Amino acid sequence: MNYAKYDIIVIGLGPAGASAAIYAKRAGLSCVVFESGTPGGQISSTETVENYPGFKSITGWELATKFMEHAADCGADIKFEPVTEVDLKAKKVIAPSGCYTGSAIIICGGSRRRKLGLPNEDSLTGKGISYCAVCDGSFYRQKTVAVIGGGDSAVGDAVYLSRFCSDVYLIHRREQLRAARSLRSSLDASKVKKILNATVEAVNEEDGHVVSITVNESGNLKEISVDGVFVAIGSEPDTALYNGLELDKSGHIITNDDMETSVEGIYAAGDIRSKKIRQIINAASDGAIAAINAAERISEGND
Ligand code: NAP
Repeated sequence: MNYAKYDIIVIGLGPAGASAAIYAKRAGLSCVVFESGTPGGQISSTETVENYPGFKSITGWELATKFMEHAADCGADIKFEPVTEVDLKAKKVIAPSGCYTGSAIIICGGSRRRKLGLPNEDSLTGKGISYCAVCDGSFYRQKTVAVIGGGDSAVGDAVYLSRFCSDVYLIHRREQLRAARSLRSSLDASKVKKILNATVEAVNEEDGHVVSITVNESGNLKEISVDGVFVAIGSEPDTALYNGLELDKSGHIITNDDMETSVEGIYAAGDIRSKKIRQIINAASDGAIAAINAAERISEGND
């Protein structure tokens, strides 16, 4: 097995991870970043970002790419592979390419899309059920789709899909949508049909493909024919690797204002951290704060 030592190990290359890497490198530290999926985390599946300063409107994919390129240009070593084990006390991570130790670890692993919990959800994923409208929407051109959820993701996805799908239903469990006012205005101006106070009881299939959904609308069951279902009901933190860290009730990692977790030298930044607002801008801010404090800790001789 290969062994390597870095000042700072960053896990995850979304806005928090990229920002942590940029600040670590600019502090003159060695830094490796691990990313197991698509750089950018959830941004890469967002169609348009219009609230990140400096970019009036930019695709999520483009912004994610800019973050990654900036971290790489600063000299961070980026490894596209999963971290499979973490020893928090020893500040050691294992990945397929080897064993890496750091003077500090910054966890920027973000979160993964929440599932509906239906029995056939996994088997229909990719066969009519999707968690990413930007990635899979074009398969449903001139077809009928349902988007489930009431937050920014669901409403943004429904508006996006309405531009090229023949019919789009937005199904939300409450009367009020949680999405931002600007997105709700775009929704109202679109052809999306809202079904409120409604839950999806079943996704029905024929020959292994989605054909309809059974919706419970205020107690009345009805079947709606759809070709695709886009699930956008939020996300859950991915903390399975980090045994021993203090978590909040929803499973997010608790940090102090310096982004340090309950284990010394281990920091967390971005959506994986316990906090109220989860936006690109405060994920990037978390990453910077974590790297600055990790750098200070290292300069004081802590390993
Ligand atoms: P979210 O804000 O947590 O919204 C999740 C939605 O799904 C809520 O409407 C929730 O209903 C519903 N939901 C949760 N569990 C459900 C279940 N089991 N069954 C049915 N419905 C369920 O998640 P998000 O929309 O992915 O947004 C996450 C964060 O990213 C937010 O801070 C958001 O502002 C940000 N974001 C920003 C942009 C942008 O700026 N362009 C785009 C996407 C996301 P309730 O409302 O009843 O709780």
